[in-house]
Amino acid sequence: MMFTNKKILILGMARSGYEVAKLLAKYNNTLTITDSKEQDEERVQELKALGVKYILTDHPEDLLEESFDCMIKNPGVRKDQPAVVKAKQQGLPVINELEVAYHFLPKNVTIIGVTGSNGKTTTTTILYEILKRAKQSVYLAGNIGVPLSLTVQSMQENSFLVIEISDHQLLDMYDFKVDIAVMTNLSEVHLDFHGTYENYKNTKKKIFQNQTEKEYAILNLENKDVLEVSKDIKAQKCYFSSQKETDSYLKEQTLYLYGEKALDTNEIKLKGNHNYENIMCALLVLHILKVDSTEALAYLKDFRGVEHRNEFVKEVNKRKFYNDSKATNTESTITALSSFNSPVILILGGLDRGHSFNPLNPYLKHVKQIICYGETKNRIEAWAREVKVPCSKVDTLIEATKESYALSKEGDTIVFSPACASWDQYDNFEIRGDEFKKVVGEL
Ligand code: ADP
Repeated sequence: MMFTNKKILILGMARSGYEVAKLLAKYNNTLTITDSKEQDEERVQELKALGVKYILTDHPEDLLEESFDCMIKNPGVRKDQPAVVKAKQQGLPVINELEVAYHFLPKNVTIIGVTGSNGKTTTTTILYEILKRAKQSVYLAGNIGVPLSLTVQSMQENSFLVIEISDHQLLDMYDFKVDIAVMTNLSEVHLDFHGTYENYKNTKKKIFQNQTEKEYAILNLENKDVLEVSKDIKAQKCYFSSQKETDSYLKEQTLYLYGEKALDTNEIKLKGNHNYENIMCALLVLHILKVDSTEALAYLKDFRGVEHRNEFVKEVNKRKFYNDSKATNTESTITALSSFNSPVILILGGLDRGHSFNPLNPYLKHVKQIICYGETKNRIEAWAREVKVPCSKVDTLIEATKESYALSKEGDTIVFSPACASWDQYDNFEIRGDEFKKVVGEL
């Protein structure tokens, strides 16, 4: 489908709806954009000036009384939303912003798509930064906060594009194809959106859907679900492992690439096997792209991790503070807990999805105190009693942070790795993490 002279309904504005509207407005399309929440007035005016009709409504399905050529659905909108259901009943193609922008890419762009349950942003960032330092023409887009509709407008031919792709974004994809698919790992997250783990895995699998023998897939050899979803794919498979020898692997604190030493983990700031896995993904991509990485690897020696991902904040009176606000599920909190060997005070809490905290049980060895807040606080308190870890309950993150300091001793590590989404009290995990860092900064 070419996106010119079409009548298009964009469901959900936010950042990606706004950017795709601006892109499509250039190609003589008749656009209607709708959202149930009030949007930034300046942006709305900007779109109106481009001829885009903006409609604030809780019932976008009513707009489908008119006929459209297609619907562009924001990845956050559920697929059982009445307007989506109605569009599909009408036989209207429902696609997403990434799929649209894909059709506007210049010639000869090599796309590296990173997906997985955890490690997407870290891996995407490492890849982009290394390619940039290796003096390649490289662009960044996707779930990392830069809609492809924006990036595509300044891209040049013969360049590299590194895209972070969420499971939400894979849902309404059709033609989109990546040259190198990276799948970091799979675990049971986002089930509230997808219903079952089976559905979630099938969605993730779509990253391989249009690949042929000419393309590549970089896969985690230690993750059985990754092996399962990639079983029948056509792409050439490259594996990484933190346990046994394969294309790229970790052995005795050294990362290997096709049998040769690539990097000594003692020389880099990122810690934890999960981060070494992210780096191995990057090493394999560089190998496929035939990019000389010697100089660029110096970057890894300074890289402290992406903000809000077990990020070291500050030391206050011999207490270390880590901000892992991005940890919105127990899996991520386990990862954070696995990186510490000294006494930990753990701050947990946030949106209640009804999920169990029991997965954390085997990882509480160093946790001497839990502090809980937010919508999940009562359930966390009850669970802490069961696992016999002292627990202090407060209402807000600000109180939790102050309490953590009050209860700490020299040598303690205070880890804000909430294992819950932020949406009970914050708009997103970034704002939540910034608040934590601000309070720590004022201690
Ligand atoms: P994503 O973008 O997939 O959400 P991030 O790179 O933002 O992943 O990391 C999110 C959280 O997951 C962090 O708190 C980090 O500690 C943890 N993490 C990072 N990489 C991995 C990995 N390869 N395996 C498991 N957990 C990871």
